[in-house]
Amino acid sequence: MRSIEHWIAGASAAGTGYATVYQPATGAPQAQVAIGSQPEIDQAVAAAARAFESWGDVSLSHRAKVLFRFRDLVERHEDELAKLVTAEHGKTVEDARGEVIRGREVVEFACGIPQLLKGAYSDQVSTGVDSYSLRAPLGVCAGITPFNFPVMVPMWMHPIAIACGNTFVLKPSERDPSASNLVAQLYADAGLPDGVLNVVHGGKEAVDALLDHPDVAAVSFVGSTPVARRVHQRAAASGKRVQALGGAKNHAVVLPDADLAEAARQITSAAYGSAGQRCMAISAVIAVGSAGDELVDLLRREASAIVVGPGDQVSSQMGPVVTDEARDRVITSVDGAQKAGATVVVDGRDLRVDGHDNGYFVGPCLLDRVTPDMAAYQQEIFGPVLVVLRAESLDEAIRIINANPYGNGTALFTSAGAAARRFVRTVTVGMVGVNVPLPVPMAYHSFGGWKASLFGDTHIHGQEGVAFYTRGKVVTTRWPGTTPTARPDFHFPTA
Ligand code: NAD
Repeated sequence: MRSIEHWIAGASAAGTGYATVYQPATGAPQAQVAIGSQPEIDQAVAAAARAFESWGDVSLSHRAKVLFRFRDLVERHEDELAKLVTAEHGKTVEDARGEVIRGREVVEFACGIPQLLKGAYSDQVSTGVDSYSLRAPLGVCAGITPFNFPVMVPMWMHPIAIACGNTFVLKPSERDPSASNLVAQLYADAGLPDGVLNVVHGGKEAVDALLDHPDVAAVSFVGSTPVARRVHQRAAASGKRVQALGGAKNHAVVLPDADLAEAARQITSAAYGSAGQRCMAISAVIAVGSAGDELVDLLRREASAIVVGPGDQVSSQMGPVVTDEARDRVITSVDGAQKAGATVVVDGRDLRVDGHDNGYFVGPCLLDRVTPDMAAYQQEIFGPVLVVLRAESLDEAIRIINANPYGNGTALFTSAGAAARRFVRTVTVGMVGVNVPLPVPMAYHSFGGWKASLFGDTHIHGQEGVAFYTRGKVVTTRWPGTTPTARPDFHFPTA
């Protein structure tokens, strides 16, 4: 069986323990991945710390040159990266290609690092005294990433961290680890010095070793909320800078004045794309007033028409979920909601895909008459399940969203500007769409939720990413000969 090893100091490094990587479309083992622990983390952090001694001093234009070359290599290997993602994650190749492109856009943003890191200069803040501010790299940064975007989410982190002059240790998801090794190889081919990017595979043990390591300066985490909360607390307790992005329950509110057919189409792709395994997936619809019955009927038609099949088959619109346990979780959630009184409008629980009896397939599920007290609403199911709640007014819909512990993404469908403006201003969610179901910010804005969807202060990529991976320094200078020598005085200096 193919072995996926660690990548430390510019070379493949064998593991001591291994775990199996399965193919979600067939349920068959396809590779084994090294599972790192303290010794591998120590080696990787040491390699990154050595590399930082010189990488932090490399000129901005050279760093940008390496990133430009890396960007071109990512584009040239787009197909290969997408197919690796499909084989291990299960999503369709077209969907995987989309995540490679969105990841590459962060690399393109990072190519502008000479401009992004420009400081500010104030001449003559006092007589003969000038002042300037700059942003310095932090040192060794770590990234811990989830299974659902094995290319894009790590690319939210390492291109910017590296462009800012840091070195990086990536701990990707153990469920779909291969893409990270190809990315490491592409960086090497682009001329990135050994040790600037390292990949250690594994799970909790490797993560804990990173969180406690005294030579790791900052941690970026993306994953589920319970782990994000724990990572934030543990990394902060050991004095690290940390941003920990968690899970979500993303609501789409549909007002009666919306184009309901268009809303249903948009919501269906946002709910079932990638089998609902996106942190920005719409998993709850709030149908307002008279929109309800017609909207549910339109959603039913759209969901029933989705073609489910292996991700590498061109006709497939939705692939399997990532594991057997994920499929069981979906089925159990739908069972529970039905028992609690929800109406199962589209039932994907018994779906079978010809020739893929052992694949982790579950079809689209649409549940109507769900209420906020039901587990299917309260929990992040992270599968192809869309629940519909009803509300009398926009204000009631906003109250439901604001009472939800998560605050990642949300969308409003309407043709009324005043309603949209009120929604945007009052909803306690970090990323908001108006007639846009997946308001995922572009690379030059920053991505992040509110409440239990993000622990820490700084959102990821964009300017906030540059701020996260650097720290400010302000320098005040006076040169001999510019002012007469002053006599000692003991009051606090003023201009
Ligand atoms: P996960 O939390 O299980 O795993 C994320 C990472 O943490 C992986 O690298 C994993 O190996 C590691 N990990 C798992 N358990 C751990 C533990 N107990 N201690 C330390 N490390 C641990 O998440 P997942 O299932 O891989 O990904 C899906 C989740 O990620 C969903 O909740 C989804 O909403 C969330 N997500 C959030 C965003 C966002 O931007 N907010 C983006 C993508 C995914």
